[in-house]
Amino acid sequence: MTKTEQNKKRDAEFDWRGLIGLDQVKSDLAHLVDGGRMHPVLMLEGRAGLGKRHLAIWMVAKLLCRANLQNTAKMSSQQTGPCGHCGSCREVLANIHPDVMVLDKSGSSIKTADVELLQSHFDVLSPDGLRIGVIMNADSMTTEACNRLLKTLEEPPAQARVILTSSRPLSLPETIRGRCLRWRLSLPDRDDVLKWAKGMLGREGKGSWAEQDMVELVKRCGYSPGSIAKRLDDQPENGLDFSEDVRTLILGDRPNEVLKAAADLARVQKAKAADVINEVEVELSAIYRKRLLSGDPAVAMGQEAWETRAARRQLLNELRRQAVIGKVTLNTQLVAESLGLSRWKEGAL
Ligand SMILES: [Zn+2]
Repeated sequence: MTKTEQNKKRDAEFDWRGLIGLDQVKSDLAHLVDGGRMHPVLMLEGRAGLGKRHLAIWMVAKLLCRANLQNTAKMSSQQTGPCGHCGSCREVLANIHPDVMVLDKSGSSIKTADVELLQSHFDVLSPDGLRIGVIMNADSMTTEACNRLLKTLEEPPAQARVILTSSRPLSLPETIRGRCLRWRLSLPDRDDVLKWAKGMLGREGKGSWAEQDMVELVKRCGYSPGSIAKRLDDQPENGLDFSEDVRTLILGDRPNEVLKAAADLARVQKAKAADVINEVEVELSAIYRKRLLSGDPAVAMGQEAWETRAARRQLLNELRRQAVIGKVTLNTQLVAESLGLSRWKEGAL
């Protein structure tokens, strides 16, 4: 591969998958950075697969891009994103930039020692101006780690910039959330996602899919670009095992969020009703446990159950409907009970 080809490949990787539908967010963030009004602590929030991780790296590149710095000095309004090919951008993309530390412990919790490592990173001064720390899935920090990080967030060193990503921001202590500029990513436009997914298949030479199969795949992944990309990577042969996506897509901080996401999924998952139900139960009980432990009075009074009752009924209805369509046997009584609708009656729905 020649040098030009390598550069081209890097460019392609840079604005590659995961960043669909984020144009407005990028433009707003770039505007803040260029105007010198960026908050030192940024938290990117949103469901799995929306591009939080990519956006975080994009932000780091944006903050450090040499071409950008020169342009800003010239007061140019042309360039908004990082260039993607200056020395700094390349180091960021290869995760070898000396002023950047990324804590990414997918699967395991982030502990005090990890945060201390980040703090020592901030202790070192950079001749170029900024020291950046990124914490992916910040909600996986232990309580002790959160407390430790709080010290940095309360009084960030002048050179420090912190970027957090989280799909469950409410799992973080209020003290942490209150110190961040929070940016919530929403689902991109559905037609755009479909178009993007088709384009990606074409670019990667994964063969041609029937229009209907493609539509189905995109739907089943809940229109989440990250999930679609992962699915196409893992199973290019139209393998449709979605239990893992079900798990990640219904993560939420509020029972209503979980139930809504589950109902959406049930609508498109058809025969996968059992997976959805199972994960809904796990997720809801985790939320209740957390709220109970935190002494939330609404939980103790049983108000929560009332609030979500309509959503639970809706979900049950949807699961029943899909079971019929998918010709799957569904023990409605059992499902109703597991959704906390113990006094459910056939005629009542
Ligand atoms: Zn650059």
